[in-house]
Amino acid sequence: LSNRLNGVFDRLRRRGALREEDVAEALREVRVALLEADVALSVVKDLTTKVRERAVGQEVLRSVSPAQQVIKIVNDVLVEALGGGEGDTGIRGIDLNAPSPVAILMVGLQGSGKTTTTGKIALRLRDKQRKKVLVASLDTQRPAAQRQLAVLAEQAGVVSLAIVPGEGPLAIAARAMDEARRGYFDVVILDTAGRLSIDEELMAEVAAVKFATNPHETLLVVDAMTGQDAVQTARAFNERLAVTGIVMTRVDGDARGGAALSMRAVTGAPIKLLGAGEKLDALEEFHPDRIASRILGMGDIVSLVEKAAETIDQAEAEKMAARMQKGLFTLEDYANQLKQIGKMGSLSGILGMLPGVGKIKAQLEGANLDTTILKRQAAIIGSMTKKERRTPDIIKASRKKRIAAGSGSSVQEVNRMLKQFDEMSAMMKRMSKLGQKGMMRGGLA
Ligand code: GDP
Ligand code: MG
Repeated sequence: LSNRLNGVFDRLRRRGALREEDVAEALREVRVALLEADVALSVVKDLTTKVRERAVGQEVLRSVSPAQQVIKIVNDVLVEALGGGEGDTGIRGIDLNAPSPVAILMVGLQGSGKTTTTGKIALRLRDKQRKKVLVASLDTQRPAAQRQLAVLAEQAGVVSLAIVPGEGPLAIAARAMDEARRGYFDVVILDTAGRLSIDEELMAEVAAVKFATNPHETLLVVDAMTGQDAVQTARAFNERLAVTGIVMTRVDGDARGGAALSMRAVTGAPIKLLGAGEKLDALEEFHPDRIASRILGMGDIVSLVEKAAETIDQAEAEKMAARMQKGLFTLEDYANQLKQIGKMGSLSGILGMLPGVGKIKAQLEGANLDTTILKRQAAIIGSMTKKERRTPDIIKASRKKRIAAGSGSSVQEVNRMLKQFDEMSAMMKRMSKLGQKGMMRGGLA
């Protein structure tokens, strides 16, 4: 999937301009990527429209490729859609800014993780914010549900409301509020029953509880694996219960989390927390940028682009690119490149941004280059004479010994470096023969 996107972005890059058809082509792929990430169709449509409006006609920045510009725009739109605007730290907690006891109502479908999340939030509030927390299970549907919460509460070190057999949800809620007031609790978390799908009886029941307890937060708990029906779920809950925040669970699985986008789009409520496991401490802050990149499925490309823009010296990169296109590649160029790569912090990062290097990248990663080796290699080249750098063929045993001593490495390491340089320069020659004319348009970054 990521490869497919890279393919399109490569093509875009070579054209060097953000024309309408370029953007449309990229967006076709983006649309597929988003649908595969389980973002609801209606939400995908809105997002791609936004990207198109912003991208088409946008002047191509000199220092970045059109491809990077599109990646960045898609990413920015996703981050915004997820609620990470300007001045937004991306970290939101539960709002407790109300008179005690502050009630939190947990709602959502059965199995979404309400009870587990209740335990997690209780633990966090007690442990990190020193709150006195009471939890109460209003789930009279499943026989073991109330017991389940009592067990979790004990693990979290908070009080759970005593179970009274035969009592209904409204009565339990009233008793919980009463107990919270009398016991001077700061927070009371009301865990409700779920249904396998939305039904009127459930909604009416939870709405009545909400009316009676007037919770400061109504948190909709959703499973990250939820697919296209995330929208209906969110809409139904929001219409009846005016959701104030969303908790997305099971982000520890391999779902890409498109449900977050759908939920957010439909309810307008912020995503407050993420559930990342079954254990009680597996609760994370929500970072829009992280989820955006996960949904887009492009790994760290966006951050690498940002980093590259900061650290790569543009003129240097263009000079080097021009030489590489001519098939010229010396140890000096190699040293230069090592330096640039060192600044980027990762070799596969910079290579990932060069078009058409998939194979080479795999090859180099096979060679197991890491940044400490890169620094070593730069030092080795630094210990060579000018003549050696230009005509490495003259480097025989005695010179190798001298170079190794001068750079604090071994002859073996010198050999390894020379071999890698040979491979790299052979690669460069092949690439230039392929006549990839536009390959380096826009420079390395
Ligand atoms: P409820 O019906 O909404 O109350 O859902 P539960 O809290 O009972 O959770 C249902 C199942 O999902 C349980 O087995 C939980 O351990 C599991 N679960 C809940 N949250 C997470 C999560 O963030 N990650 C994983 N892997 N499992 C979770
Ligand atoms: Mg439950």
